[in-house]
Amino acid sequence: MPSIPTYTDDVDVDALGTTLMHEHIFVRIPDLQEFFPGFQGWDEATEIANARAHLGALNDLGIGTIVDLTAPALGRDVHRVARAVDGSGMQVVFCTGYYTCTTFPFQYRGPGKLVIDDPHGDFLVSLLARDIEEGIEDAGIRAGILECATDEPGETSDGKRVLRAVTRTRLRTGVPISTHTHALSRRGLEQQRIFRQEGVDLGCVVIGHCNETTDLGYLEQLVDNASYPGWDECGLGIVLGLDEQVDTLAELCRRGYADRIVLSHDRHCTSDWFPEDRVGETAPQRTYDYVYSGVLPGLLEHGITEDQVEQMLLRHNPRDIFSGGAADRTPAADPMQEPTR
Ligand SMILES: [Zn+2]
Repeated sequence: MPSIPTYTDDVDVDALGTTLMHEHIFVRIPDLQEFFPGFQGWDEATEIANARAHLGALNDLGIGTIVDLTAPALGRDVHRVARAVDGSGMQVVFCTGYYTCTTFPFQYRGPGKLVIDDPHGDFLVSLLARDIEEGIEDAGIRAGILECATDEPGETSDGKRVLRAVTRTRLRTGVPISTHTHALSRRGLEQQRIFRQEGVDLGCVVIGHCNETTDLGYLEQLVDNASYPGWDECGLGIVLGLDEQVDTLAELCRRGYADRIVLSHDRHCTSDWFPEDRVGETAPQRTYDYVYSGVLPGLLEHGITEDQVEQMLLRHNPRDIFSGGAADRTPAADPMQEPTR
């Protein structure tokens, strides 16, 4: 049985329990903090106590594990998260990778367009693999998942370098991959193409932010190529209304995809990205528990069974991803092909 590194310990995959696959706790952008110190009010003790209360409440709801996808460049700070987690009862899986949708700072280090075939060009791979094999910084906590991103602009040359580094790190370490992407422009298919070019089994990949679209053809194609759509912005109704999101998810479940979707909120306790009052104004239902307060009741109203909903989406599917993913589906010849269903 695979052993998964969490903050507290390495645990058997079954001990992850009910799992939210894409959350954040603190998003603190390093450059902003360094160059404009104090631009946003911050009291360390208050923020940690607030986060611990959120995590404890989630644990009381029955959530055993959250996957914190706060990658390097988004402000990953395992020491701060560790202080928030202590006493909350929550298990946390940390990530490595690099969060960028455009440029990447190591212009002359690989993988890169200038040195892509250089056998010594896997500089970034060595950094990411160290987080997974030895531990993050000096904290003695290993990363359990890889994160990378593309957005509406699609594959920038630097973005591809990061995706390639992530895939090569996956091949070396065996941990799963989770992505940020732009669903309306179907960018997840491009990510799948790069992953496949690099030889990664797409069954170990979560393609993120899939609840931003009603494009069932796109969503089915992601699964038919063997990946897991991440329904990971539950409660965030800015791009697409919350009712339409539930309608689309219910239809996917009806079509037999409940064994291939994972739920989460992409929420944070504190984030440099948002003044909190604005989050409240624009996304009042974007809470850490909207899966329970909004999504699951909505699915049940659509006639989706409780077993399909909670067991599959929140327990079985995360366990399968950390166990090696869906290797049983035959991948399509080309991820960019139109769906055949
Ligand atoms: Zn996120």
